[in-house]
Amino acid sequence: MAGASAVQIYSAVHMAGNQGAAFLNNFIKDFDAWINKYEYTNINSFKDILLPKLSRTHQTNRIIPKYNKNLCTNCKACINICLENAISLSKNKIIINKSKCIGCGACASVCPTKALK
Ligand code: SF4
Ligand code: SF4
Repeated sequence: MAGASAVQIYSAVHMAGNQGAAFLNNFIKDFDAWINKYEYTNINSFKDILLPKLSRTHQTNRIIPKYNKNLCTNCKACINICLENAISLSKNKIIINKSKCIGCGACASVCPTKALK
């Protein structure tokens, strides 16, 4: 249970990019003070407080991958890796739904031709 909570926290911070790291530093300071005050030891308290604060509305510095159609082979590796279902293929062209994309960079990392950066 503690491991699952830690993974959820790590994933949320990772998805939030640079802002997530800065947020986590501040959060740890505040949470240290809080946990000392209330002597609370349940790991789930970390998750319940942290995750809502890392909601998408806080991710103002998302980096949406740039797409170069000329390099794309329509292999669909990017579509398959995107956990947010933010990528689709239309008329042999990749479309990234900006409202769904959280800027994790997974698609660019698996693109074999660097069509996504
Ligand atoms: S950056 Fe992440 S969320 Fe955005 S389209 Fe690529 S894989 Fe999906
Ligand atoms: S992974 Fe790269 S080459 Fe493959 S479909 Fe996506 S953008 Fe195109």
